[in-house]
Amino acid sequence: MPAYDYDFFVIGAGSGGVRAARIAATHGARVAVAEERYLGGTCVNVGCIPKKLLVYASEFADAFADAAGFGWEVGAPTFDWSRLLGNKDREIERLNGVYERLLTAAGARIIRGRAELAGAHAVRINGATFTARYILLATGSWPTVPEIPGADLAITSNEAFHLARLPRRVVIVGGGYIAVEFAGIFHGLGAQVTLIHRGDALLRGFDDDLRIALGEEIRQRGIDLRLKSRVTAIARSDGHLRATLEDHSTVTTELVMFATGRHPNSRGFGVEEAGVALDRDGAVVVGEDSRSSVESIFAIGDLTNRRCLTPVAIAEGHALADTLFGNRPRTLDYDNIPSAVFSQPPLASVGLSEAEARRRYGRVDIYKSAFTPLKHTLSGRRERTLMKLVVDGDSGRVVGAHMIGADAGEIIQGLAIALKCGATKAQFDATIGIHPTAAEEFVTMRQKS
Ligand code: NDP
Repeated sequence: MPAYDYDFFVIGAGSGGVRAARIAATHGARVAVAEERYLGGTCVNVGCIPKKLLVYASEFADAFADAAGFGWEVGAPTFDWSRLLGNKDREIERLNGVYERLLTAAGARIIRGRAELAGAHAVRINGATFTARYILLATGSWPTVPEIPGADLAITSNEAFHLARLPRRVVIVGGGYIAVEFAGIFHGLGAQVTLIHRGDALLRGFDDDLRIALGEEIRQRGIDLRLKSRVTAIARSDGHLRATLEDHSTVTTELVMFATGRHPNSRGFGVEEAGVALDRDGAVVVGEDSRSSVESIFAIGDLTNRRCLTPVAIAEGHALADTLFGNRPRTLDYDNIPSAVFSQPPLASVGLSEAEARRRYGRVDIYKSAFTPLKHTLSGRRERTLMKLVVDGDSGRVVGAHMIGADAGEIIQGLAIALKCGATKAQFDATIGIHPTAAEEFVTMRQKS
């Protein structure tokens, strides 16, 4: 066997790459991790973590408004964007340090710089070439910006976390996770938000009842939601931006943000040149063991465009490290992966939507409950919670659980375990509720809809 400099060379220190590197190192492998930007990748620096901190910040607006019904007089609240960003940046810096220590304590070497594949077993970085028995590509994804005139005047989520000041008016383009989350953030912090989406409902792929309910809820909050609409050009005008729509109408704004999907970061570092096959979208083609078309090169996370979620990238990286170095070969089960959207109100899902279940199963039973949460009986807020179970009528198994309403992500995480275990509707029914909670509705729905 040839002598390599490393057993495992990981390109990209995001959530997936760091997990793979750390676990491989604890299994005794000689590991190097190359990173050109920031430790922790998108999730830690310009994704999940800072996004959730901004969501928390924006939710105070609701809390102040809701307080009066409970007897509080809050006065006129004021908000300081630069204080929020400063505190957020300090927390992210702390996490960068945590990631660095995780790697070095496990014995992995961090190499800062832009790495390039230089063959099936070679990586070039900072002018030096290192050889490795296995190479892992974990370079994630990057925001996609539509090619329209003036697109360069717009920002993406990358820049949204570092704006010098909070805009008073924002146009957000897109109808996916990032678009609806940032619409809620900017709106909650006091900006006037226009959300422009080309489809006829937000969040394609989610259960239709949730998609429709979310549209209604965010409109009711005062977000100007324009469906079946597209921005065709952006121009600067009198110190503002002007977004032109397909119907030639215009929206004047301070900021335009594209949240129109992300593409795999697979170009410009020797991937194709090394013989690694990419699909039409530029994702690295991998087998279920995350192996690419080159025997010694693997890929995980957003780069492979399987399920683009941090916990999935982490699980893929962990499984790969266990397989290659831990004598424990395993692959990931992609069924019943839960996810949440931190919109306002938030929503979350696990398993199949009603439409997917109807395609897959002969008979499908649907249980639904829509209600005003107890808290809002006094706050006066007109916000409804919706919960829905999708059941395979033949086996009685719950194959989908969906919710829009406060704490949806926290609640669906628990239900995801039940679905993973194959729980039936009868077992949901036999479970005693916790009263008074919203979550108890999931075990008290008896009426098929
Ligand atoms: P999504 O793929 O979720 O959504 C992209 C949106 O942009 C869709 O509504 C799509 O419309 C629309 N779109 C795509 N191209 C164009 C275009 N040319 N013009 C107008 N609209 C367009 O991507 P996001 O950017 O929101 O997020 C990327 C990924 O990151 C997500 O898929 C998710 O996996 C992950 N993520 C997860 C989060 C979480 O778990 N909470 C939070 C944030 C991101 P259409 O539906 O018609 O295709």
